[in-house]
Amino acid sequence: MSNDRTPETTPDHTPGPWRTCRKGECSCFTVMSDNHPVAEVTHGDWGDNYPALRLVGDSTFDQKIEAYMEQITYGSIGEKTARANWHLIAAAPDLLASLQEIVAEWGCPNTPKWHRAASAIAKATCAHVEVSGP
Ligand SMILES: [Zn+2]
Repeated sequence: MSNDRTPETTPDHTPGPWRTCRKGECSCFTVMSDNHPVAEVTHGDWGDNYPALRLVGDSTFDQKIEAYMEQITYGSIGEKTARANWHLIAAAPDLLASLQEIVAEWGCPNTPKWHRAASAIAKATCAHVEVSGP
């Protein structure tokens, strides 16, 4: 990888490489950097969680109110899809750096492929697409 980045292409995101926890052999679906977790991929049921209360105990003299988290479930993400998302996210810094290098080598040929690549880079870096002539 080259070290000739200009200041405007220095990433704001956590530097790569990122990796899947335990080389993809873990059930936590956490994406890790060298120093800290970056993301946890949603898997299984997903929805909005909210606090709720319930009565617990065997008799009226023994009852207590207990707080717990309830979920309004909107759907479920299967393990195969979550695992694919996990690996894709872990590869994101490498994919971005590679695409930036390729686009830099292309210059600006003003082709649909170049614009798709530039748009993907802009999406990944929260930047506006600057299209200028060669
Ligand atoms: Zn893990």
